[in-house]
Amino acid sequence: MDFMSLPTIKTGLKNIEYMFGIVGIPVTEIAIAAQASGIKYIGMRNEQAASYAASAVGFLTARPGVCLVVSGPGLVNALAGMANANMNCWPLIVIGGSSNRNQETMGAFQEFPQVEACRLYSKFSVRPNSLEAIPAVIEKAVRTSIYGRPGACYIDIPGDFVNLTVKKNSAKYIGCCPAPPISMAEEMTISKAVSFILQSKKPLLIIGKGAAYSRAENSIRKLVDQCGLPFLPTPMGKGVVPDNHPYCVAAARSRALQYADVIVLLGARLNWILHYGLPPRFHPDVKVIQVDICAEELGNNVKPAAALLGDIKAVTEQLLDRFNRTLWKYPSDTDWWKDLWAKMQSNEATSKALSLQKQLPMNYYTVFHHVRELLPKDCILISEGANTMDIGRTMLPNYLPRHRLDAGTFGTMGVGLGFAIAAATVAKTHNPEQRVVCIEGDSAFGFSGMEVETICRHNLPIIIIIINNNGIYTGLDSETWKDILKLGEPSTYAPPVALLPDAHYEQIMSAFGGKGYFVRTPEELQAALKISLAEKLVPSLLNVMINPLSDRKKQDFHWLTRSNM
Ligand code: ADP
Repeated sequence: MDFMSLPTIKTGLKNIEYMFGIVGIPVTEIAIAAQASGIKYIGMRNEQAASYAASAVGFLTARPGVCLVVSGPGLVNALAGMANANMNCWPLIVIGGSSNRNQETMGAFQEFPQVEACRLYSKFSVRPNSLEAIPAVIEKAVRTSIYGRPGACYIDIPGDFVNLTVKKNSAKYIGCCPAPPISMAEEMTISKAVSFILQSKKPLLIIGKGAAYSRAENSIRKLVDQCGLPFLPTPMGKGVVPDNHPYCVAAARSRALQYADVIVLLGARLNWILHYGLPPRFHPDVKVIQVDICAEELGNNVKPAAALLGDIKAVTEQLLDRFNRTLWKYPSDTDWWKDLWAKMQSNEATSKALSLQKQLPMNYYTVFHHVRELLPKDCILISEGANTMDIGRTMLPNYLPRHRLDAGTFGTMGVGLGFAIAAATVAKTHNPEQRVVCIEGDSAFGFSGMEVETICRHNLPIIIIIINNNGIYTGLDSETWKDILKLGEPSTYAPPVALLPDAHYEQIMSAFGGKGYFVRTPEELQAALKISLAEKLVPSLLNVMINPLSDRKKQDFHWLTRSNM
């Protein structure tokens, strides 16, 4: 029997639940076929946001989401999400339509070297050489996206493939790829790592987003509890062990990094987020026990004292097995613990004092304090923006793994609404009671603000909280803005960081049928958030006005570490 190319795409995408994209020539039929075969299709407003959404599905579910885009400019927009996914080590499949093969090199409509362009942003970038090859190519792309270090893969579908037919028995069918095989570390290296931990005077466990991705939470929690180890989550490692666990030393982050003598690094790279593992932020003689699934990562920036190559869940269980035999526990009365606790108390007191300030407009800490009191413990938190993300990370606890998504390794601003749409779409299928709260700066919101229409169209009850300081890092109040306009054109006189003061972003939400709130006081904030959380069907946007000059509390180190500090 004859059949079209489109079901062959679906055959390869077995076990793929979600596709995000924007249709147009030549991919509209692919979206229709995907829907017809049970894949949920979410039409977005910009391919960037669509690619961010699909990549977040990868982190949340460990199976890649798909981003479907048109040729040329559509694909170019999606490169942003491919790069972001690859940098974050998240699986993602991008399917791009491209010009018909017989028009190649002729200046075809939206012609672009797509396979070559995607190579830099992916683990695998390919055009199937025939219709018959599509299922095998898609299986390979899905497998490549989740095996080894996860990442993005690109499949190019020329327009003339879309409506071609082939004989059913001429296509090679390949079963859906199973979850990745589990790899374990060498037992000798495990022994070495254990002996370093046993000798350590100032141990520290760092839990990264690789640990969250590997679903290692149960064994990591056991390791922390059983061995009494202080631990520090990275931004997206938060929640693997709950932030309110007594051994969490996040409130003494700088101190913990600076003086630890043995660090067990579970799925986190020693990149800018962890100050490269180097002095002055780390002890010059620190022994790093590095656990990673990617062999090439072992030794980047710091030579590990023990390099444990393997899956974090399996390796943590290997470590636990050893500690089960020794029944060793790091004592709770050491000077290291006293030092960390003292620092945590003083840092928490400073944040608390800031959060209790009564002046209006509010500062970041006051806003987060009131938000924190109301958020459900199992909500998914999306966070982006400079101060909004950094202060939010310290003020808003996570209790569960993979419940925080943010600008990530690539520091990408504009991911918020795409991530929120992905999280709410996954929640709708798997956990309808779960709330998705997207807290972002006004600048970050602007990158993909039109996705509010997507949110309303798909009835996703996301709560967007914009922390609005009228600018990027800092802004101007409306009086100062008027004074600037008196001087002349904003292009000459307005500070580049300034955005329009008192913008009513909440009206974007009400324009599409959601609920919008303009918020100036803690009372208004609490009232609007309570109503929004009680509302399970309609999305909300809280536009929270803060002092345009509000800033982070004083830090021990400059951002990104200047060694001359
Ligand atoms: P963070 O941003 O939290 O510091 P990174 O993204 O820098 O984390 O690091 C995550 C690391 O986790 C990557 O080096 C990646 O190779 C690794 N990783 C991903 N999945 C696994 C897994 N299942 N087992 C071991 N390591 C993993």
